[in-house]
Amino acid sequence: MKDENNFCVSLCHLRFMTITLSTPVSELTRVGKTTESRLKRLGIEQAQDLLFYYPFRYDDFSKILTIKELRPDQNATIKARIEIIANKRSSVKKKLITEALVADSTGQLKIIWFNQAYLTKVLKPGDWVYLAGRVDYDMWNIQLANPSYEKIETWKKDATHTGRLVPIYSVTGNLTQKQIRFLAKLVQPLAKQIKDFLPQEIKQELQLIDWPNALNQIHFPDSQVKLAQAEFRLKFDELFLIQLKTQKAKQELKKFKAPQIQFKEKETKAFVDSLPFKLTIAQRKSAWEIIKDLEKETPMNRLLEGDVGSGKTVVAVIASLNVIWNDYQTILMAPTEILAKQHFETISKLLKKTKIKAGLMTRTDKKTNSQKKKDKDLTKLELVEKISSGELNLIIGTHALIQEDVNFKKLGLVIIDEQHRFGVEQRKKLKEKSNNKTIEQYSNESSPTNGANPAKRTERPPTPAAPHFLSMTATPIPRSLALTIYGDLDLSIINEMPLGRKKVITKIVSPGDRPKAYEFIRGQIEASRQVFVICPLIDESDKLGVKAATAEHEKIDKEIFPHFKVGLLHGRLKTKEKEQVRYDFWRGRLNILVSTSVVEVGVDVPNATVMMIEGAERFGLAQLYQFRGRVGRSGHQSFCFLFTDSNSLKTKKRLEALITAKNGFELAEKDLEIRGPGELYGTNQSGFLGSLKIAKLTDYDIIKLTKQWAEKLIAKDPNLFQYPLLREKIESFEKEALHLE
Ligand code: ADP
Ligand code: MG
Repeated sequence: MKDENNFCVSLCHLRFMTITLSTPVSELTRVGKTTESRLKRLGIEQAQDLLFYYPFRYDDFSKILTIKELRPDQNATIKARIEIIANKRSSVKKKLITEALVADSTGQLKIIWFNQAYLTKVLKPGDWVYLAGRVDYDMWNIQLANPSYEKIETWKKDATHTGRLVPIYSVTGNLTQKQIRFLAKLVQPLAKQIKDFLPQEIKQELQLIDWPNALNQIHFPDSQVKLAQAEFRLKFDELFLIQLKTQKAKQELKKFKAPQIQFKEKETKAFVDSLPFKLTIAQRKSAWEIIKDLEKETPMNRLLEGDVGSGKTVVAVIASLNVIWNDYQTILMAPTEILAKQHFETISKLLKKTKIKAGLMTRTDKKTNSQKKKDKDLTKLELVEKISSGELNLIIGTHALIQEDVNFKKLGLVIIDEQHRFGVEQRKKLKEKSNNKTIEQYSNESSPTNGANPAKRTERPPTPAAPHFLSMTATPIPRSLALTIYGDLDLSIINEMPLGRKKVITKIVSPGDRPKAYEFIRGQIEASRQVFVICPLIDESDKLGVKAATAEHEKIDKEIFPHFKVGLLHGRLKTKEKEQVRYDFWRGRLNILVSTSVVEVGVDVPNATVMMIEGAERFGLAQLYQFRGRVGRSGHQSFCFLFTDSNSLKTKKRLEALITAKNGFELAEKDLEIRGPGELYGTNQSGFLGSLKIAKLTDYDIIKLTKQWAEKLIAKDPNLFQYPLLREKIESFEKEALHLE
């Protein structure tokens, strides 16, 4: 296609001599200081950023109609001559209006613009223009209000704002569609300079269009078909890179050697028999999958998923025991100190009949499960010594445990609660920590477990072994997400609850029923139960929920329940303060805990029976599900109240899904469709998702396709030697993702 040759664009062409992909936007035509900073807010700093700033939808003005053909409520472009154009003040609100009368061979049409007085300087009677906008009625006749316009003499085949599929960008802070469209247009020729990284064989087989072509078409599509092709290509790219990265990580992991853990069948059975309950089938299956992984030489990389209360801990303990019976250590890391403490207490009870030594190491607690008094309160140094000497078999702490200055004698398994990712980098670090022995040490040591000739080992220490890794989460991860960003993890799912759990009674509370709900809550507290109150963020600036939670706390504490003790938890509090509030609530010193969603995980208070959620419509379903999981953890009947002021049917439907959904997975899938992944997982946990600009996690077919191709490519050429451009792309993408994580 021939390039633009109208006046404006030829001016742009002059500029083009100097524009490259990395030209700062400030050097582009029509970008002054203000526009520069507005663009910056959208992440657009260089010319190429404009190319990659995709429209989020399109107005179809591709059909040019005559005035006679216009019908109300349609998007249309017309070609007409300006007869009259003038500014005036509206009689009612004194708004400035520009009115024009235009005509073509079929009739006349009234046009109005609001607050654009300059138009009378740009458009003169006699000018031919293209006008694109929505057709509506004024009192008597149809008209176009606020249409986009392009003068005919500057309009050839290649219109920007009219007469085509017109791109609509998401803009903020006073940038106009026209401005950004103009700039997007300006940089279009640069697309040619972009090197297509996708292997020819894939493009050919799937008949994908070229990358530069896709970039042009995504901004200014020639037709719906071309647009669909461009979308497919760009979605494919994004998902393919994620898959490739995931597959590479999987490959990388295979280079690590892990200790092979023998399954101790008899001992395991004895332990399971000693439990005060019968394991569910899902627990048995998960434990078995883990045991099978541990036997292998490749490090396990498994995610254990199960609703809150589904009994993940005991499965983790079974795995730990096997590792320990093989003379290796296990560490278990929790997201908060209080959870670490709780894990330590529960697990110590479970271990009572064994000889296994467990230790707790958090900022405030350092102790072991030994009955000796002196082991109840150790110094950090003493505890660290017990860990590095191998005296302790199981070490429980917060996620900070691996950052601490702690070394392990023989680390076999790392278990992490509520943190999904565990990168290769973290693994390397742990590998170093667990293999810090010098050659001399090896030679002086006799190992009872693998009694090889010690003299021989002096020459060459054994290959350092990386620990196995098990992550646990109560966040139900939808299939598509598991396939994409967690594709390097194997999944075990506990999809049933232990027998005898009472269902949490969930109710949507309308404003009128608020007093009744408060009365009910009063009754629960008077019966010694405890209550959570979750509040949504009030506004954009209140990221940590300080304002929201403080206001709610004030209301509950002073007005509604002045006689009860009410605690407050939000993102601004220091870690220590947060721990203290959680602790007080846990110990029953507080009747009510007002909190933001910042604290989704990390509170395990079986005595709490009411989960009250303000502004429920503002949360994702999966998030609400998580909140609800905080209650119903004891024999007491528990309740979840969803407060909402919204009357919208959609909200109601969504919230009702929470009442009807059979499990968290079903809900997570639904939520993903309705709200997208960002809300589900919090931006920090989904670093990869930040790179999804156009693909959606509901693009199942493309996800599957990209997975197949990534596997195929990695199997054929693990280091991507044949695909230098692709390799380069992956490397820069990895850096980016690492940065995001
Ligand atoms: P989560 O999956 O949320 O980590 P936990 O492991 O903390 O759940 O288990 C919740 C409670 O259920 C614990 O008190 C645990 O002892 C109990 N539990 C675990 N498995 C079973 C079972 N099969 N039958 C009955 N109770 C169980
Ligand atoms: Mg748990």
